[in-house]
Amino acid sequence: MKSIYSKLVIGFLLTSLLSFSICCFFTIKSYNRDSDQLALEELEHSSDHIADLIKLIDDKDQDKILADYSETSEMSFTVTCEGQTKNYGHVNKKLILKDDELKTLATSKDKSLRSEGIISQYAKAFKIDNQTYVITVQKDFSATKDIFMKSYTSAAIIFMMTGSIVFLIVADIIVKPISRLTKVTDELAKGNYKVRVNYEGKDEISSLYASFNQMAVRLAKQETIRQQFISDVSHEFQTPLTAISGFATIFKNENLTDEQRQKYADIILFNSNRLSHLSKNMLQLTLLDGEDTALDKTEFPLIEQLNRVIEMEDNAALSKDIEIEFIHPKKEFIIEADESRMEQVWINLLSNAIKYTNEHGVVTVEVRRTPTELQVRFEDTGVGMSQDAISHIFERFYRQDKSRTIEGNGLGLSIVKRIIDLHHYKIDVESQEDVGSVFTVYIPYEMFTGLTKKKKD
Ligand code: ADP
Repeated sequence: MKSIYSKLVIGFLLTSLLSFSICCFFTIKSYNRDSDQLALEELEHSSDHIADLIKLIDDKDQDKILADYSETSEMSFTVTCEGQTKNYGHVNKKLILKDDELKTLATSKDKSLRSEGIISQYAKAFKIDNQTYVITVQKDFSATKDIFMKSYTSAAIIFMMTGSIVFLIVADIIVKPISRLTKVTDELAKGNYKVRVNYEGKDEISSLYASFNQMAVRLAKQETIRQQFISDVSHEFQTPLTAISGFATIFKNENLTDEQRQKYADIILFNSNRLSHLSKNMLQLTLLDGEDTALDKTEFPLIEQLNRVIEMEDNAALSKDIEIEFIHPKKEFIIEADESRMEQVWINLLSNAIKYTNEHGVVTVEVRRTPTELQVRFEDTGVGMSQDAISHIFERFYRQDKSRTIEGNGLGLSIVKRIIDLHHYKIDVESQEDVGSVFTVYIPYEMFTGLTKKKKD
């Protein structure tokens, strides 16, 4: 299984093995250097000692004492004098000096140093009682080297074992939270948006968990919005469709009077217009929702545009005997924005103000200058809104008037908000039930050209 766990274990073993081999290489090298030096000193010291024994001991006891010394010191040596050689202990024949080499040593003050595997040999000439002795000492250092290797191997085994145990514990601490996250992610993928992960601590895992929880909360919210949207859409479509099919069935009745026919045809027409309006608004919202929605920005005069919009809505106002007042500075303001979309914003806000104002009311459109921005206000003396309604009016399909006596589909302000956001403007609402509402759009100065011109009249 190629899990993180096995990767970590393999990584640990490879790293340990590599570092241990490098460490081993340098330690053995350094040990060999030191042990060679120590061996030489030991052999030198022994040959001096043997020379002292030969000097001090009578000839008859010499053999026995030298043999004893060889046994106790674990050294093998040869003593050559006047062409005669005596061996003590198990002398390695391969290292033994040839006659000419012995002669050279006897006549010079040189020393000879040789080794064969783990056996080292040292030879030197001594003058004792006017006779020249060449003493050759050998020692098998395998035991010392074995002790070193054994200690080193057991250190390595202990290191690997404790290291592995500690590492497995650490790996478990790392892998466990990841496995937990994988489990909850699977749950989330299956559609369980309620899953959350808890973790105490302030490390990378805790921020990963926090991000996961945030993502789950957002997905849950989106899912609720999606479901609400589907139910709203089907509801908004269903009502006019039911009306159309119901009145079309009645329409088939041949005994209807002309007046009734006219009435039912009007109802069918009204509802089909409603459907058409709804689908147009939905299409527009979908287009505006696209992440790369591009605004077709141009420079245009704001006061002129508002005047045009007021003219367009004049008939609707007149039909309810509503007076539209337009208050604005004398100067024209050239703003840089998407002209047709901004026109739609003003139309929606003004038509809402008229729609939600009772007969003989007043709607005031006002352009105000402040040191930092331009404010475009739509104030009405209409039905107003509750505080709860204010917090929902920019949501799709939201309508305060649940009975739907006033024509509408609850998409107009969502479109307005989206266009305002795309322009990086702001919009807010103040309202009081049965008093009226004020919608204000804030256009920061840096968002328009800053050029102003005198009103033409
Ligand atoms: P609608 O098509 O229903 O007007 P909107 O998105 O334009 O949809 O408005 C959403 C809701 O906000 C309306 O149903 C209404 O309850 C409330 N609303 C909007 N403008 C006003 C206003 N000027 N006065 C009172 N209520 C308003």
